[in-house]
Amino acid sequence: MKAFEATKFFFDQAADQLDLNKNVRKLLLTPQREVQAQVAIEMDDGQLNTLVGYRVQHNNARGPYKGGLRYHPHVDLDEVRALASLMTWKTAVVNLPYGGAKGGIAIDPRQLSRRELEFITRKFVDQIHTFIGPDIDIPAPDMGTTAEVMAWIMNQYSKYHGFSPGVVTSKPVEHYGLPGREEATGRGVGLLTHKVTGRLGHKANETRVAIQGFGNVGTHAAKFLCQIGYKIVAISDHTLAVYNNDGIDVNEAMRHAYANDRMLKGFKGGDNITNEELLALDVDVLIPAAIGGVITEENVDSIKAKVIVEGANGPTFPLADVKLAERGTIVLPDILANAGGVSASYFEWVQNRQHYIWKMDRVRQELDSVMTKAFDEVWYHAQEHKVSLRIAAFMIAIERVKYATALVGIN
Ligand code: GLU
Repeated sequence: MKAFEATKFFFDQAADQLDLNKNVRKLLLTPQREVQAQVAIEMDDGQLNTLVGYRVQHNNARGPYKGGLRYHPHVDLDEVRALASLMTWKTAVVNLPYGGAKGGIAIDPRQLSRRELEFITRKFVDQIHTFIGPDIDIPAPDMGTTAEVMAWIMNQYSKYHGFSPGVVTSKPVEHYGLPGREEATGRGVGLLTHKVTGRLGHKANETRVAIQGFGNVGTHAAKFLCQIGYKIVAISDHTLAVYNNDGIDVNEAMRHAYANDRMLKGFKGGDNITNEELLALDVDVLIPAAIGGVITEENVDSIKAKVIVEGANGPTFPLADVKLAERGTIVLPDILANAGGVSASYFEWVQNRQHYIWKMDRVRQELDSVMTKAFDEVWYHAQEHKVSLRIAAFMIAIERVKYATALVGIN
């Protein structure tokens, strides 16, 4: 199933609960604008390479478009469209004054030199700078992009429009960024894992967690959970998956990854397993925090975790999600679980406009408060309407976007 179809499936389930008519569904599902731009580059070896960059602006009824920019070989228009719509529901569920967008280019940043990466980024900004802006559409990192890429975007955009730190978020702290933004997505995932296991009456030190993905989200989620007493029994990335019944030494794993080009390969902190085995471990909590579409109809029956917290965007395919709901597995959906990143992006954006930067403690405090409020709302909504947390989150988000649209009309 293609990514946008999968997102539409969840949207429709919530829309059925809300009794939304077909015209409103179509309005809320159709992206407002899709930009496809040529990004041509002369590679280091002298070859000409013509790429296509995408920016899909899904909805701005509640505020400027907001969402990441993804550099990954699998990027295509359908995926960017799906991720853009997820951003609309994500910003609405945590109640930020933003809409939703996403961008992407089908490249593998690991295979490119720094010069090539910078050139592609700046060229893409040349092509889309009239479509983005601090009041229009504010990109941020996603898979394969970093704070440094954001600094290039800000710098290139500012050449056309003057000093504009608010055009992009998750910049380096030395360059108008926010302390605490980098850890925010993982921290939010950790915090909500703690909330949900608490609701189920589990104690932190008796809760075993497996995390797929040891990038920005996975590492910070692991660190946060470890610090409050959870046992991380398995971690993985695209180079290695390890299991340790006594708990992985997360700090050691992070040190190893930082020293090895961000890869776990060669880490000796447990027994080597496969990524499929990690997903099927008998743990209390499974956190898919890598790529999309990893929990499928084929492997869902092997999953034993009682709670799944979606650190990644779109890790669970619809039919697998239905099965998980039927057998009572609790799934904390991506649009809530990983919303800590965009929430901290919002703090950064507000402060860029005020030329005032908060200290880390304040960022954490405000982040925890935004995430906790959204979690409580979704949890009670799910109980009240007897639906899964995913459908509850979509219902709250759709209602908010629909209301904002109705307030101003479509003219
Ligand atoms: N790419 C992140 C996400 O999917 C962050 C988006 C942002 O900060 O705008 O939520």
